[in-house]
Amino acid sequence: MGFPGFGIGGLSVGEDREDMLTSLRAAQGALPEDRPVHLMGVGTPLDIVDCAAEGVDLFDCVLPTRNARHGSIMTWEGPIRIKGTAYETDTRPLSEQCDCPACAGGFQRAFLRHLFRTKEALGWQLLSLHNIRFYTQLLARVREAIAADALDELREEVSAWSERDRA
Ligand SMILES: [Zn+2]
Repeated sequence: MGFPGFGIGGLSVGEDREDMLTSLRAAQGALPEDRPVHLMGVGTPLDIVDCAAEGVDLFDCVLPTRNARHGSIMTWEGPIRIKGTAYETDTRPLSEQCDCPACAGGFQRAFLRHLFRTKEALGWQLLSLHNIRFYTQLLARVREAIAADALDELREEVSAWSERDRA
């Protein structure tokens, strides 16, 4: 019908990963290649890389902010569970590689942990901003990898990163 772009939804609702990708490929096959595709509700960093490899252009998902509200923080250096006692006196930012308002704003892990544990809304906000920035960095890397024809290498890195996050 000549729409300027197309949305795909209803995936990643409990089916296994391979079924999700099979369904995505089926939907993608019916869409014009010269229009942007928006995938709703997906997903993990590895899902993002895999779905970008399938031709998805735009994403939205609750994962970065929901994880942040539960204290699960994503950094390129590895996962942080901010409520852990390991961060009680940790004066470092969440990530040295991040320029989000929490990391660049001088907020230490110990203070963010305090905000989280005392249910201060500022804690959830800063942690959410951090995880969203992680995702925008991820998408920038996906765009660079596509331009450099190096998406497979990025996938390997993000896959290894995902294993660390699960550990
Ligand atoms: Zn940050």
